Amino acid sequence: MSQVEKLLKYQEADSRLLKVEQKLNSSDERKKYVQSRSYLSKASEKLDQIEAKAQELKNSIERIQQKYAELAETLKDFDNLEGLVEDGNSISFYKRSAQSLSEEIKALKAEINSLSAAMKEQVEEYQALKKNVIAAQKEYPKLQEEYKKYKNSVQAEADEITKELKSLAKDIDSDVLKKYQAKRSERVFPILCKLQGDVCPMCGTSLSIAEKENAAAGKVIECENCHRFLYR
Ligand SMILES: [Zn+2]
Repeated sequence: MSQVEKLLKYQEADSRLLKVEQKLNSSDERKKYVQSRSYLSKASEKLDQIEAKAQELKNSIERIQQKYAELAETLKDFDNLEGLVEDGNSISFYKRSAQSLSEEIKALKAEINSLSAAMKEQVEEYQALKKNVIAAQKEYPKLQEEYKKYKNSVQAEADEITKELKSLAKDIDSDVLKKYQAKRSERVFPILCKLQGDVCPMCGTSLSIAEKENAAAGKVIECENCHRFLYR
């Protein structure tokens, strides 16, 4: 049997293994399991984000409390307004001070309102997320188990073909097989194809003059575009 024939035989068995892999990968059992796993991992990131946001809000609140304490301190100066005016200070100066204090308090109030709205939003988001995460955590082991069960059910079939592939591989040049496996892992399939005239049947690329000669001499060549093995 020629190398091409051996490799074709190997590829035929490999195509059956690929079908088993595809059946497993496209199964509902796997989709649901992967979805649930990805949701839970994203939810944990999201919880971290909420925590960071809460810390940020806490810092803002501390900043406002500090500002408020300063304003309260300033307000104390107004307790003795009459005495200060009697000492000869202008009443219009205190009017301006009172005006600016009132504006600062107004701005503070607006900031407090927006912070409370932001906090309310974070709390609601956290509670909704928590509810969903608890439901997902409860569901996850079930989905994992179902996927495992399905995987085991096709594993026997896959093992059988893998055994066959191992035995076929013994007769194939190890460098060729290595290249074949590399292409397989890049999701190229089929890998070994029969030339259609001087054209790659998979991507339609024409052979160069040197490749034409090699193909005519019975050598396996590589398509320069899709990198499949081609033979005459
Ligand atoms: Zn090609």
